[in-house]
Parts: sequence; C-alpha cells; structure tokens
Amino acid sequence: MSSIQYSYDVIVIGGGHAGCEAALASARLGARTLLLTINMDHIAQMSCNPAVGGIAKGQVVREIDALGGAMGKITDAATIQFRMLNRGKGPAVWSPRAQCDKVCYQRAMKFELENTGNLIIHQAEATGFLIENGNICGVRTRLEETFRCRSVVVSTGTFLSGKLHYGLLNFPGGRAGDPPSSDLSKSLSGQLGIRLGRLKTGTPPRILAKTIDFSNMIVQESESPEETFSYFPEDSTYPRALKKEMPCYLVKSTLKTAEIIRANLDKSPMYSGKISGIGTRYCPSFEDKVVRFPHHETHLLYLEPEGEYTQEYYINGISTSLPADVQVQMLHSIPGLENAVISRYAYAIEYDFVFPDQINRGLAVKKWPNIFTAGQINGTSGYEEAAGQGLVAGLNAARSANGKDPYEFGRETSYIGVMTDDLVTKEIVEPYRLFTSRAEYRLILRQDNADLRLCPIAHKLGLLSDAKFAMFSKYAEKLAAAEANFKMEKHNGQTIFEHLKSLAGDVSAKIGFPIGDLDISQEEDRRILRQLVITAHYHGYIERELKSVKNLQKLENWKIPADFNYDAVLGLRNESRMKLGKILPSTLAQASRIDGVTPSELTLLQVHLKRIFDKKTH
Ligand SMILES: Cc1cc2nc3c(=O)[nH]c(=O)nc-3n(C[C@H](O)[C@H](O)[C@H](O)COP(=O)(O)OP(=O)(O)OC[C@H]3O[C@@H](n4cnc5c(N)ncnc54)[C@H](O)[C@@H]3O)c2cc1C
Repeated sequence: MSSIQYSYDVIVIGGGHAGCEAALASARLGARTLLLTINMDHIAQMSCNPAVGGIAKGQVVREIDALGGAMGKITDAATIQFRMLNRGKGPAVWSPRAQCDKVCYQRAMKFELENTGNLIIHQAEATGFLIENGNICGVRTRLEETFRCRSVVVSTGTFLSGKLHYGLLNFPGGRAGDPPSSDLSKSLSGQLGIRLGRLKTGTPPRILAKTIDFSNMIVQESESPEETFSYFPEDSTYPRALKKEMPCYLVKSTLKTAEIIRANLDKSPMYSGKISGIGTRYCPSFEDKVVRFPHHETHLLYLEPEGEYTQEYYINGISTSLPADVQVQMLHSIPGLENAVISRYAYAIEYDFVFPDQINRGLAVKKWPNIFTAGQINGTSGYEEAAGQGLVAGLNAARSANGKDPYEFGRETSYIGVMTDDLVTKEIVEPYRLFTSRAEYRLILRQDNADLRLCPIAHKLGLLSDAKFAMFSKYAEKLAAAEANFKMEKHNGQTIFEHLKSLAGDVSAKIGFPIGDLDISQEEDRRILRQLVITAHYHGYIERELKSVKNLQKLENWKIPADFNYDAVLGLRNESRMKLGKILPSTLAQASRIDGVTPSELTLLQVHLKRIFDKKTH
C-alpha cells in the first residue's frame, strides 16, 4: 500500500480500556482525535474477568464518570449483577462492583466512540513514530500509512512483545486470539530510547454452563441496589443487558486439586523458569496459592457468567498456566465441575512495559513531552486503573496539542491522583493495582462523593459538558442546603445532623426523626440522605483529613521546575540526589513521597527553590 498521510491533533494507539477513555477525553476537549487499534471488533475487550469495579476500583469508575468519561455509563448498560463490596466495613471503603455482559460492554463502548464528535476510529497496527527535528510528529502503521499529529497516547496493554504460555508451550500473542505488537515495542525502545521491562499476568479457564452441576453450589445473588455507577442517568440507545440479576456461584477446590498441581509443577512455565516477567502477589496463580499456602486444603472459587447470551462461565480464583490436559484434571476434581467442558484454556502472558519513572504525573514521557502512556503499558493491572490513566493521558495529550501544560490530579482529589502519583514516584516491582489502603485520604475519597470532588474540576478542564455540570450543580446545591438545614433544625434538643451521627453510618437504618423536606420516595433525595448519614458519621475525622490536605497543598504549591539542578543543592545525600534527579518530582509534596528523601532534605530543597523564586521576582 502506498504511503498515505493524514493529520490529527491527537493519536491514541490501542482501543482497550485506557485507549477508549483517552480518545473520548481528547475528543471532548475538542482535539481532532484518531484512535488506532488492531481489531475494531475487540475494542474495550475484557481480557480477564467479566466485571468492572471492586475495592478502590469502583471508586475509580465513579471518578471517571464524574470526569465525563464513559466507563460508568457503559458498565451500567452492560451490568448483569451489581454488588456493593466491603459492606461489613465503614462506608468510606464501600466499593461498587458490577458483573458485566462482556460482549454488550464492547458493543456499547464502540457505539460511544463512533458517536463521539472529533473522533475517528481506524483499524490498524501502529508500528513506529514519525520524528522530525527531534520531535514526534506522527505514527506509522503496518500498512505503511502515516498519520501526522501533535501528540500521541500509547495504550497498548499486554500486547508489547506479548508471549502466551500454556504449560511449556509458548508463542507470541497480545492476548488469546490477538497478535502481539512487537514492532511498536522495538520502536519505543530503539527509536525513542524508552526503557522497557517485563511483567506477567494470567487468566483462568472458561467453562460451559450446560456442563456444570450448579445444584450443590452456594448461590451469590445480585444485591440489585438502586445505585448505578453513573451519576448522570441518561436515556441512551446503548446496547443493554436486560437481565440485571444473574447469580454467581461459589465452590471450593479440593485436596485432589492441590495434589494435581503439585504433581505437575514441572510443567508450569513459572516453576520451570520459562517465564521471566514479574507477576502480582495479590492476584496469584492457582499453582502459586498451592505452593505458598500448603496448609490451606481448599481454595474458594467464584463462577461468574460472562454474559446474558453465552454459556461461558469465568472461574475466578483459578488462574493458571499449566498445560491444557492438567487444567482438565484440575477442574474435574472440583465438586460440580466433574464433567465441565473447557471452552477456553487458562494461560499466562508476558509483556513489555514502560518503567513509569520515565513519565510524569500528567503521564507524559519526560524526554518526549508530547507522548503519553496509559494503562497496562505503565506497569498497572486492571481495567479501571487503565481507564483512569487513559482519561488523564487523553486530557493531557489534547492540552499538549493545544500548547497547554499537563494537568496533574492531586492525591487529595481522587484515587486517580493517588495512582498517577504512586506510579511515577514509587519503584514498580510488580504490576500496580489500586487498594483503598494506598490512599491517605480515604474518608474523603469515597465512592459516593466522586462527583462532588471532581465535577467542578472536570467542567473547568472542558471534560464535563455544560448539561452534565448543570445536573451536578443542581444536586450539589440541594445537598448543601439539606446539610445546612440539618445542622440548624433541632429535634428533641439535638440537631438533625447529630441524630444522623447516631446512625453510625448505617444508610439503611430506619429514620425516627424529621428530615426536613427530603422526600425519600425520590431517588435523588434518598441519595442526599445516604450521603449525609455518611458525612455525619465521619464528621470529626473528615475535618481532620481536610486539615492535613491543606498542609499537603502548601507543599504541592512549591513547584519544582523540570530543569531543576539537584547538584546545586548542597547537603543532599547522593542516594536522594540520584532518586530526585531520576524521578524529577514536579512539586515538593511529590519529592516528600520519594522513598528515602528526608524532611531535612526537603527543607534544603525548599530553601533552594525560594532562592530561585526570589531571584526571578527581583
Ligand atoms: C491473560 C490476561 C490476564 C489478565 N489478568 C488480569 C487480572 O487478573 N487482574 C487484572 O486486574 N487485570 C488482568 N489483566 C489485565 C487487564 O486485561 C488489563 O489491565 C486491561 O485490559 C488493561 O487495559 P489497557 O487498555 O491498558 O490494555 P488492553 O485492554 O490490553 O488493550 C490494549 C489495546 O491496544 C491494542 N493495540 C496493541 N498494540 C497496538 C498497536 N501497535 N497498534 C494499534 N493497537 C494496538 C490492542 O488491540 C488492544 O485493543 C489480564 C490481561 C490478560 C491478557
């Protein structure tokens, strides 16, 4: 094919969870955006479990929604079971999770992309970059097309030089059924000089419902709460799942399953040294569980439907890279799965990733400031983590194309801010995944208030439409009025707010006191009441967190120029000097989070920055 040239503001490479949000965010900002992806039928594919949300991840989905992104509303369309996790703990760490119809999710996301202005999707494999005068100004594809652009987002997931492992068999692949992306990997390291490492992950087998005996399994029903992921209910024409309450099932592996694993460890690519990539501790393979926890006789497994119109079930908890015949033996040793037929075998995948110390908090590559990376390529794991980063990268790619500085989300604003800060400040030794424990401001970063935290920022940045912002403002005003009223009005000598405190965060408790003009037959008013019950419960603690946020913001206001010379700061230890010079923190607050940088070294930096600032202003 002859070389064709087209021109865009932003090109996004990869239509996975990161790439979709990146392309949508960029287009929302008005940038002419091109999304290149290897297979348009595989857009937003859930490579692993058919679910969105979960602990800390559910918060991210709500944040994406508050920032005008798509993951929340697409999940609502594709939901076949909804649960609020962590209900046994305080409401600060409750996390929504939805089982999804995988195919419905993909179709709805493709529909969203296709119907977004300023955005074109094109099926092609990006293979390299066009560089002119030391600047990246385009992307080349396998079919020798050249697309010119002002900035690029790379969100290629597990595809970079991907290698699939089924026992001792291995071959190149981006994930099962997809080719790897090897030329782009070479371009990132060879052409751009970006340092790449190797990580690994794995997925369990899928089995057919008609071959499963569910009769003795524990049923896990949908909680079918009225809550949805999205704050902005809309009458969209998305493809939708109709069954909203499909059950999941719980089973336990047996002693025999563990014996089969032990007898076949020599066929495991991990234990025989065939896999060099580093995997996750928190999401271990089944063989890892058996070896690391020999005292556990059984392990809990969840059978999760992959959708409304499919027989396939995902078996959560039995990810493995053992050979196909061993997988059959393993499953047949589990009650109810004696006759189970595997539709897709489990496997492990190794892939290249970009060491994220080479990117900044806006997700730009430090030495190529108009190229942004997002998702699995940055060493993270999970659809939600990928989508959150995608939104940040798309936003900043569009800003960069428009000559603006990248926007950085603070840790006090969102889990997205926690993640981007962690990624570029801490050393990545295994795939990064969000937990609520990673956030120091957990009481503020709740799933129920992401709109209050982020809609005003999103509207200012151009990520949230006027219509959605108006919807949010109406709600926020009503909430503020109700809170003010509850703090004033009294019942039996106590303010209503004090009465709310006595509910100890129990949002489903019976209310035995007046609640002003809130009408709990209305969903919006019920939400206001729930939110005030939570706020009242944490009131004192939230005040304390807000004070500590103020202190953090003081340090965040101390900006460190990208060309800051750490050698000129006398008194820094060599180790700190090296780390600071490598990570190039953008603020004193970020510098304070680098492992090993001491408070006295921070003071030295502060004094030095003040000197630079004074010189500039005099
Ligand atoms: C086998 C397996 C097991 C997993 N297990 C887990 C797990 O247990 N827990 C968990 O949280 N996550 C798991 N994941 C990871 C999860 O799928 C990812 O975190 C998530 O999909 C990352 O989103 P992403 O957008 O970064 O990449 P992906 O969803 O992988 O999307 C990448 C997209 O980029 C496209 N692409 C790649 N190269 C090019 C190119 N050169 N040109 C154009 N397009 C390109 C691909 O076609 C694809 O559409 C697993 C993934 C796999 C494959």
